[in-house]
Amino acid sequence: MEAIPSPIDIKALTHAELERLLVDDLGQAKFRVKQVEQWLWQKGVGSFDEMTNLSKDLRAQLAAACTLQLPTIVTRQCSADGTRKYLVRFADGIAVETVGIPSSDGSRLTVCFSTQAGCAMGCTFCATGWGGFTRNLNAGEMVEQVRLVGSDFERRVTNVVAMGQGEPFANYDASIEALRRINAELGLGIGARHITLSSCGIIGGIEWLAREPEQFTLAISLHSAIQETRDTIMPGVKAHPLPRLRQALNEYGQLTGRRPSLEYALMAGVNDSDEHLRSLVDFCSGMLCHVNLIPLNPIKRDPQADQSYLMEPSARMPEFLRGLEQAGVQVSLRNSRGSDIDGACGQLIQNSRASMRQIVPFFVIPTPL
Ligand code: SAH
Ligand code: SF4
Repeated sequence: MEAIPSPIDIKALTHAELERLLVDDLGQAKFRVKQVEQWLWQKGVGSFDEMTNLSKDLRAQLAAACTLQLPTIVTRQCSADGTRKYLVRFADGIAVETVGIPSSDGSRLTVCFSTQAGCAMGCTFCATGWGGFTRNLNAGEMVEQVRLVGSDFERRVTNVVAMGQGEPFANYDASIEALRRINAELGLGIGARHITLSSCGIIGGIEWLAREPEQFTLAISLHSAIQETRDTIMPGVKAHPLPRLRQALNEYGQLTGRRPSLEYALMAGVNDSDEHLRSLVDFCSGMLCHVNLIPLNPIKRDPQADQSYLMEPSARMPEFLRGLEQAGVQVSLRNSRGSDIDGACGQLIQNSRASMRQIVPFFVIPTPL
């Protein structure tokens, strides 16, 4: 007996898959694809019944073949500086964290969204890494996080960063599809240069992103330019060694003309020695890049369980800043609300990071926050 196909989440379909469903399976004209996409991605409706320019029959057929459920906000925490952190739950009960970060002058609203529930990479300084991996999010689940924050702030989202929970290059297709929907006119209409994706450095993902037509911005979590240290604190990317990472980033720069940023959270006694600084300078020399020095967001957990997370922020920010500047490497220090920012994300992210410390002492977002 043939198994009854389970309904598909319509927002997990790519454009081509939706076209197959509507045109090939349901015999509709091609223009219906655009109409459905407008309802799904631009208007963000929560039911097929709201798609009022489709016939009742088609709405019923879609409802029989697919599910369409919007996520809900389970909790919302607001900081004094306006940053809001949300726990967002999907239809299957899985929840992720999403953050809305308004700029202090009110001109921008940045949303930091999750690409996976949990993460398999196991970075020792990251709360998500400790929690392990639950499941990939689909493109719809990513875009809806952005839309939820916009609705909650009752304003247009101007910048988006895939820097919440999860590793976007370990969920490449869905993450890129989400960025496309966020960018598309028939989606959220946010310019590609205002959309940033952060990765721990999966080489294949960098190579693919370099060949995508959109000008999405790339951030790489480097955290050490010494292989041994990086292997210790970021065990999940051991198979993607630094020389290959550097080569992929160089190629990315050559192909796109864009400058990837390198995230470096300074951890006392772990990656803040003079040798680490020299290695970082060497790694960056002759490469199109921008280093973001980030104060480690200390995360606490049961001290009996594991010692690796007992990392403290380093006081050596000024030395690293000076050392990189003297070597001619572009660098920013992400530690205060007023510092400069191009494209908003780094600064806003750091704002959020500071804010979140005030909100939740045992902060669980892995992130930029
Ligand atoms: N997996 C991706 C994106 C999510 S993590 C990545 O690793 O890039 C987003 C950012 O938060 C990364 O730069 C990550 O290294 C950083 N991060 C995680 N834990 C942190 C902590 N405790 N303090 C400071 N930054 C942290
Ligand atoms: Fe995953 Fe990024 Fe956290 Fe590492 S830093 S565990 S890659 S979310």
